[in-house]
Amino acid sequence: MDINLKLLKSICEIPGAPGREEKIRHFIYKQIEDLIKQKKIQKNDVHVDSIGNLHVIKRGRYKNTKKIMSAAHLDEISFMVRHIDEQGFIRFTPLGGFDPKTLTAQRVIVHGKKDLIGLMGTKPIHIMDPADREKPVKISDFVVDVGLPKEEVEKIISIGDVITRERDLVEVGNYVSAKSLDNRIAVYILLETLRYLDTPAWDFYAVFTVQEEVGLRGAQVAAHTINPDFAINLDTTIAYDTPGAAEYEKCTQLGKGTAIKIMDSSVICDSRMIEFMKTTADKHNIPWQPEILVSGGTDTAPMQRAGKHGAIVGGISVPTRYIHSVIETVSKQDVLHSIQLLKHCIEEIHTFKF
Ligand SMILES: [Zn+2]
Repeated sequence: MDINLKLLKSICEIPGAPGREEKIRHFIYKQIEDLIKQKKIQKNDVHVDSIGNLHVIKRGRYKNTKKIMSAAHLDEISFMVRHIDEQGFIRFTPLGGFDPKTLTAQRVIVHGKKDLIGLMGTKPIHIMDPADREKPVKISDFVVDVGLPKEEVEKIISIGDVITRERDLVEVGNYVSAKSLDNRIAVYILLETLRYLDTPAWDFYAVFTVQEEVGLRGAQVAAHTINPDFAINLDTTIAYDTPGAAEYEKCTQLGKGTAIKIMDSSVICDSRMIEFMKTTADKHNIPWQPEILVSGGTDTAPMQRAGKHGAIVGGISVPTRYIHSVIETVSKQDVLHSIQLLKHCIEEIHTFKF
């Protein structure tokens, strides 16, 4: 198995603001249709729920047994138009967590009646007071400039339209870099796992969720509906393995394997699931590293808690440098190891004594 860069590039570049995931969902739906043609998935096992999650069920060999669920969120951190001023500049509110300095000198896409390229403008350093130069920038310091007067902007853009970041996927040495690897790399991993998975013993519920970046919202609905017994979430995690990082701050490192989640700020993973995942990785010689993410939550949490009796949960995380910026970067090898680990976990979970 090698990385399908053409597919990954499409998955990363299609916009999908929280609450506006329709374009990327449609693209993934089309990919699933190929799996239906190949008889890997049955047509009536694919549906979209009311909040917008795309559910895909891979039926197991046994009837009426345990349910295992995985989630990969479709949305990416974005913005929403809140005001258009007299000169046509757009004020916006963030959808998801941004480090304001990552907005400096960026291009964005404003999704109105048609897509407009926008520029994230701020005050030039040349005319700043010396004291202001030292101050960190704030989100509210930025405006989006679409190069049109107010009347023209208002014909195309309305309050409530969304804005996504503009940046293509490139290969960088052994890595790939793009604006939305959080969480499109997990979307890719889930899709590829469905493609390569042997028929598992139990039914596998693969869900492409919505609105994760604004509060783990889609997964809550999906887990409530599915009521899983077991769940493995798929997301990115911090790799602060660059110069200046203390050993304890690294969280994970690029190229050192897939990461098995132990906890993040929204969840403490089930110790039995962690043990199962570590054992499975070792059995198949899949390199892995433990993940303790002290700040930042994931869809692992609603999957643990939104079902009737709670679920036994864990997470596979992809080490990611420069996370929540337009140059998010992952190792191709870590991605392949993540696919392998998920595939083996789904195929072998019925053999483990929980
Ligand atoms: Zn994420």
